Amino acid sequence: MQIDNYQDIESSKRRRVLIKFSGEALSGENGFGIDLDILKFIAQEIKGLYDKGLEIGIVVGGGNIIRGVTAAQGGLIKRTSGDYMGMLATVINAVAIQEALESLGLDVRVQSGIDITEVCESYIYRRAMRHLEKGRIVIFGAGTGNPYFTTDTAAVLRAIEIEAEVIVKATKVNGVYDRDPCKFQDAKLLDKLSYDDALREHISVMDDTAIALAKDNKLPIIVCNMFKAGHLIDVLVYKKGEFSLVK
Ligand code: UDP
Repeated sequence: MQIDNYQDIESSKRRRVLIKFSGEALSGENGFGIDLDILKFIAQEIKGLYDKGLEIGIVVGGGNIIRGVTAAQGGLIKRTSGDYMGMLATVINAVAIQEALESLGLDVRVQSGIDITEVCESYIYRRAMRHLEKGRIVIFGAGTGNPYFTTDTAAVLRAIEIEAEVIVKATKVNGVYDRDPCKFQDAKLLDKLSYDDALREHISVMDDTAIALAKDNKLPIIVCNMFKAGHLIDVLVYKKGEFSLVK
């Protein structure tokens, strides 16, 4: 599949990407917590990509532990506090991914959008850039550091800040479909989508705030399957395989 703008990007001198995956991706069948086999698999996939010479930033969600909206249901917990709980959940996931990547010999730093200095570095833009230039993988935890946002928006924000050429939204399906591929066998994978169409259709793969921010900053979004071995390399290095591009 040829994707014109994406081919142009390929010629840029330095290849830096930001990968976003949801907390749920870590939870496996349980839907909760961290499945260690999945954690290992994800780390191996990221190492494969790193070994191809890419600079990698990662944003992980926290939905496998808690989301602000869910915590606030029933009114016992305020939404703002629920969101801070959600942000802390993303740091738990970030530390887990750091450990898994380090076990494969990679140099990794977690930077948090809220200060938890006993656990990890705080997010400092210039320090993050230096880590990436030195070949370290940087995992951005705690989202944007602000309630009422999602980690998708945080991922787009960090991708723009670190000047990533593309953001990869790693999901359980191959990309964006014309209808739910889990319910309809004949659902068609969409090759390419404009930001405006993605916003008009409210594609559930990323929230509108994230897409609008990507649009304003011309950041291409790739939606692909994280759970096929070698898929990240196929998509990002060889530009082949099934995925959707939003630009
Ligand atoms: N969150 C937040 N601000 C951010 C990012 C995340 O308040 O900038 C909170 C919010 O409550 C969210 C939770 O952290 O529900 C976990 O993030 P998200 O739902 O995006 O995780 P995912 O669905 O990707 O696992």
